[in-house]
Amino acid sequence: MDSNGLDSDGREFRNAEEMWREEVGEEGSKSQWYGTAIRYWEKVDATVDGVLGGYGHVNDADIAASDAFLTSILAERFPAQRDAPTAGRTSRHLVALDCGSGIGRVTKNLLLRHFNEVDLLEPVPHFLEAARVNLAPEDLTVPEMHRAANFYCVPLQDFTPDAGRYDVIWVQWCIGHLADDDFISFFKRAKIGLKPGGFFVLKENIARTGFVLDKEDKSITRSDQYFKELFNQCGLYIYTMKDQKGFPDELFAVKMYALTTEMPRRPTGKSKSKRLSNRPAIIQ
Ligand code: SAH
Repeated sequence: MDSNGLDSDGREFRNAEEMWREEVGEEGSKSQWYGTAIRYWEKVDATVDGVLGGYGHVNDADIAASDAFLTSILAERFPAQRDAPTAGRTSRHLVALDCGSGIGRVTKNLLLRHFNEVDLLEPVPHFLEAARVNLAPEDLTVPEMHRAANFYCVPLQDFTPDAGRYDVIWVQWCIGHLADDDFISFFKRAKIGLKPGGFFVLKENIARTGFVLDKEDKSITRSDQYFKELFNQCGLYIYTMKDQKGFPDELFAVKMYALTTEMPRRPTGKSKSKRLSNRPAIIQ
């Protein structure tokens, strides 16, 4: 990644390699990088406002845009199964994985509406405990037969899914915690977790150019171009992508990418590149 970047104190880096060398280059410094992030989140309230960095009020716009994005892709990719006559036939049993799930906000408001089972992956124990409570089966807002199935207290860089379990792997506001090499190896491992036709959704803050390092929670906000270079290295293709609308102007731009392991048969959506952390965040 050739573009220069910034950290949260306004210091400039010539390129991402320079920043990564400093942050995770030394022996043992990678575990410090990941440890600092976990300690940061351990002090954050297990609430919607907490996981959204004080921007709990963007929840509704976030979920509405994600719902429209997901609904159209599911209809395109799994039409026959989803619309199959029910008499004597069962429709596709849909399973999703919510990565960096926090307190289960995305699972509760979005994924359980579409998927029969959702697994949650979250390394911070008090968030995952809150998710268990929030997603307890007596929650009547969730359609019958749709349930949170497994709760894994594991970080992305250490996770390998069961082969062929998931229709969708949803990754929102957490990939900025992964160093580039772990980003690539995570997606390469996670591919085996997809069913045929399954796909990833990555929803993230986007830097205008290069990257922005947040020194406090040890995460980086990457540009659209930076993400595309990484997708390429993961062997992933953009099936379609969309800009999030309706967020406050002071926040980074947010994009949704649907990613497949096979080359798409139609042109991908185009969108403007703007600036964009791991949750809604003020532009620095
Ligand atoms: N995706 C959720 C939570 C966003 S907050 C939502 O949109 O509501 C960012 C989350 O990333 C926190 O729950 C934090 O604990 C988690 N996280 C931090 N480091 C991580 C890592 N290495 N792997 C996976 N998740 C991580």
